[in-house]
Amino acid sequence: MGTVAILGGSVVGAAAALQFARSGWQVSVVDAEFDRISDPDGTVEARPGAPHAVQAHGFMARAKVELATRLPDVVDALAAAGVTELPFAKMAPPHLHDGGRPGDDELAMLQSRRVTLDAVLADIVRREPGVRTVRAKATGLEIEDGSPPRVTGLGLATGDVVRADLVIDAGGRRSPVSGWLAAAGLPQPEIVDTCNVSYYGRHFRIRAGERPRLNSGFADIHEFPCHLQFMFLGDNDTAMIAICAESGDPLLKRVRHEDAYHAVLAANEAFRPWLDLLEPATPTFVLGALNNRMRGLVADGKPLVLGLHQAGDSLAMTNPTRGRGVAMGLCAVGRLHDLATADGRDDVALATEYAAWQRDVLAVYYQEASTSDQTVGRKLRANILGDAAPANAPAVKLPDGHPVTSAQIEQASASDPDLFRLFLRALYLLDDDRVIASPAVADRVLRRLAEDPDSAANAPISPVRPWNGSVDRQALESLLAPYA
Ligand SMILES: Cc1cc2nc3c(=O)[nH]c(=O)nc-3n(C[C@H](O)[C@H](O)[C@H](O)COP(=O)(O)OP(=O)(O)OC[C@H]3O[C@@H](n4cnc5c(N)ncnc54)[C@H](O)[C@@H]3O)c2cc1C
Repeated sequence: MGTVAILGGSVVGAAAALQFARSGWQVSVVDAEFDRISDPDGTVEARPGAPHAVQAHGFMARAKVELATRLPDVVDALAAAGVTELPFAKMAPPHLHDGGRPGDDELAMLQSRRVTLDAVLADIVRREPGVRTVRAKATGLEIEDGSPPRVTGLGLATGDVVRADLVIDAGGRRSPVSGWLAAAGLPQPEIVDTCNVSYYGRHFRIRAGERPRLNSGFADIHEFPCHLQFMFLGDNDTAMIAICAESGDPLLKRVRHEDAYHAVLAANEAFRPWLDLLEPATPTFVLGALNNRMRGLVADGKPLVLGLHQAGDSLAMTNPTRGRGVAMGLCAVGRLHDLATADGRDDVALATEYAAWQRDVLAVYYQEASTSDQTVGRKLRANILGDAAPANAPAVKLPDGHPVTSAQIEQASASDPDLFRLFLRALYLLDDDRVIASPAVADRVLRRLAEDPDSAANAPISPVRPWNGSVDRQALESLLAPYA
């Protein structure tokens, strides 16, 4: 095996480091903020390299499956650090409880603050034989001429160079790698989808007391005409809330004020039982106007460069209306590892096969998330302006002309535990083969709807439920008037 240099030691870079090192590669992880990741000293503070890490995070089942199958000691260490799992039986609505089926263990979410996940991973990376952590900022790529050119290492702010057979860009959404490639005359293919949603995130401690059931199984989600509120549970009796608003909304900007934040949550009657258990543990963290974006390193079937690959947000970045970023990053890095460590694959084949996987698998997860994010942004804006709001984005992407719609699959799954599992597998990124879009599933959906046309009465888990808007714009204006 060879040498790998990884730019970025956050969740995706750390998972890459552990997998490659355990396959016999010599790994260098370059991150100037490594000590802040591995030793958060109990406080939750935004760090410049990954300010989103303090925002509310839920981890889709695929994230846990990737860790459990590839890095089981990480799952054990997370449990030791107070991270819990939310099993399928707790997420499924009571009327779909059926005693369990093989495979249900895959449909489990991790309940962790993102900072805890990063710290646990970084701590294991720090102690891993075969991994060298380099606490420095990467400032450039070493590129050798050729056709295509070859990336041979990372230049550092210290003036040193980390040379490697393989360079992995896990530098996140603000990774400088794309800019370095463009400056070298190698612009990457890129799609950008605007989103225009801002996130006001805050952490809470949960007091002792009886906890209500999460209204969406894995999260408590409340959708209003001009904003969304959602809460994920974290490790060690913590919870994270996000208030999401249209980025230009001047009214909801006021929730940066802590009392305004509380007032908006308190006005939501349905959330009151939870709010009564919560005690603020951090200030409000604001992050906004992030576009979704997917890049590639292969154009027209030909690699732009050899020796360089991307994973995580540097490859495909989504906003959190589907909570997919970490699961997508862990999938990508797992795939890259498997391709790079398999026998008999040269650098060109590695680049093209990884790109083919990105096109066939990752891009579908990306498109579903991106369509959802864009629709949420447009809907929030339309509701502020009083315009007609767009319909919800489909929960799952189906081919043109498919005999059933995403909404029909969701409706049928409300009364069919097996369809419900298939639907969840698609939502939680466990459906790389797109079983959800197969003719067999379509047949079953049609049969189910014919047998039980009222099945929609039992709404299943879906991140795209209709607005329940009980807090309208006028009510928000009077609520937030003191914080102008
Ligand atoms: C508001 C918000 C909420 C989100 N909620 C969810 C959620 O609920 N569920 C979910 O799965 N995902 C969520 N995401 C997405 C998730 O946070 C990202 O997908 C994830 O952080 C990607 O991890 P990464 O390791 O690729 O990059 P990052 O976490 O961004 O880490 C990049 C690392 O690279 C380092 N770095 C960058 N440049 C350099 C350099 N030049 N030299 C050295 N080091 C460098 C940085 O210091 C950093 O540590 C959310 C994102 C946002 C913005």
